Amino acid sequence: MSKIWLSLAHMGGAEERFVHEAFETNWVVPLGPNVNGFEHDLETWLSQHSRNEVHVVALASGTSAIHLALVMLGISPGDEVICQSFTFAASANPICYQGATPIFVDSEPGTWNMDPELLEQAICDRLAKTGRLPKAIIPVHLYGVPARMNEILRIAHHYGIPVVEDAAEAMGSLYDGQYCGTMGTYGILSFNGNKMITTSGGGALICHTKEEADRVKFFATQAREPFPWYQHEHIGYNYRLSNVSAGIGRGQMLVVDAHIERRHTIHRMYAELLHGVPGITVVEPTAPTPMQPNFWLTCILVDPAVTGYTRDELAAKLFAADIESRPLWKPMHLQPVFAQAPSYTNGVSEQVFEYGLCIPSGPMVSDDDVHYIVNQIKELRK
Ligand SMILES: *Cc1c(COP(=O)(O)O)cnc(C)c1O
Repeated sequence: MSKIWLSLAHMGGAEERFVHEAFETNWVVPLGPNVNGFEHDLETWLSQHSRNEVHVVALASGTSAIHLALVMLGISPGDEVICQSFTFAASANPICYQGATPIFVDSEPGTWNMDPELLEQAICDRLAKTGRLPKAIIPVHLYGVPARMNEILRIAHHYGIPVVEDAAEAMGSLYDGQYCGTMGTYGILSFNGNKMITTSGGGALICHTKEEADRVKFFATQAREPFPWYQHEHIGYNYRLSNVSAGIGRGQMLVVDAHIERRHTIHRMYAELLHGVPGITVVEPTAPTPMQPNFWLTCILVDPAVTGYTRDELAAKLFAADIESRPLWKPMHLQPVFAQAPSYTNGVSEQVFEYGLCIPSGPMVSDDDVHYIVNQIKELRK
């Protein structure tokens, strides 16, 4: 039996055709028809569940998409940007690329995402301490669970602060009838190898006007002014998605809904099969607003007082059984690299980090695999 991975990419079959077309038409150069086609596919798909107009720019990564959102918002040295603490470092790193300071805000228990009350406290405290408001807010839909956007957007609007929605893990998650990534001032998606769909590496910035999207494309292609020669009046970036990668993306858009459905099914199976196992909880997020997570990764909590073994001991047992698992993201306010950054905490992310484990959830995980994984968990006794 081969190893069961956490979140392995799955190709639908049409990807090679689009990539092959790129070779046949010699569009292996950076930009070309697949990039436009992929952006169009994303716009059409996202528009199915968006109250805002959607304009998408395909980029080299989710990280570069966050960076360009901050560039668009004019974030500069000395500015402060609020970021969810419980996330992957890629949410926060671009704040530092701009020479700004990240301000970390902890999570609330129902969604494990940015706590709206703590967000407002942080905004008021920054204003009191520095005399200035933070320049942007980055909530994250971690593990595909929608953050409480209505509350976060209401606070952001009240203080006039733009919101960059990190939907890297939340492609296809619905919040109040809207796709994650379409609600903020800007939204970002990731197409890295382990995300909902992949382009082998890539991302997208979601804007709400064509003018903004054109401006993002300008910054993403070295900020070349419209002159016959190379004229530069701004610092630019080489952040566009390649035409070959976009070909993979076009193929993946044909299977994205199937991938989301499969992750839901896997989550339901875990929830049923692990129900009643003492000390093991399959996490079911809750929020006051109707929402539908994409269940990108299924998370479980291990209560060592009941199980008699720790999260790490369970992970070791799974590893020995050729099953990949991973502790939840370590909060940014605990990361040595961000030790100097101000943070507003309430203990939620620290607690789930201590007890939480992600288990295999990708479209390559079969029903038999789920049963096998569940049996491994049930067999473990201290
Ligand atoms: C993956 C991820 C990113 C970064 O996306 P890349 O495409 O890998 O650069 C950002 N934020 C979160 C929460 C992620 O999981």
